[in-house]
Amino acid sequence: MSHEGIQFLTREEQQKLEQDEARARKLTRGALTPSKVRVLQTEGLGMEIDWADGHRSHWSFAWLRDACPCATCVEERKLSGRSPGQPKARPAQLLPLYEPPARPASVQATGRYAIQFHWQDGHTAGIYSWDFLRRNCQCDACRAESTAG
Ligand SMILES: [Zn+2]
Ligand SMILES: [Zn+2]
Repeated sequence: MSHEGIQFLTREEQQKLEQDEARARKLTRGALTPSKVRVLQTEGLGMEIDWADGHRSHWSFAWLRDACPCATCVEERKLSGRSPGQPKARPAQLLPLYEPPARPASVQATGRYAIQFHWQDGHTAGIYSWDFLRRNCQCDACRAESTAG
């Protein structure tokens, strides 16, 4: 019988994990409840959410497309070592092919907890939960906080 694949965490790793979990749990109900959702589809300017706790978040469509939380995209990012929203590395080209910026063809609410984007490139699998979005808020304050840890 092989024990390969079983990992034991060191004490520091265990503490780090517990700290991360504590931080992750810190979000209040108000921080996870959108009071207003604006999808600036016609303007191509991304999505804005006003949260019940008074915070406002904004994401560009490009970020959202590159952060697609479906299993396929998560796996693909994991293999290429990208974080959510980080664009794919493209080989340098003398004459880069024009790629139209990511835009949703339509957007729909999924239950009370998420929003689903149907992208113009035909990808529709991504369901973006409020939790995922709030944890990936792109405002300066939240980004500073998430990189500080
Ligand atoms: Zn996806
Ligand atoms: Zn924020």
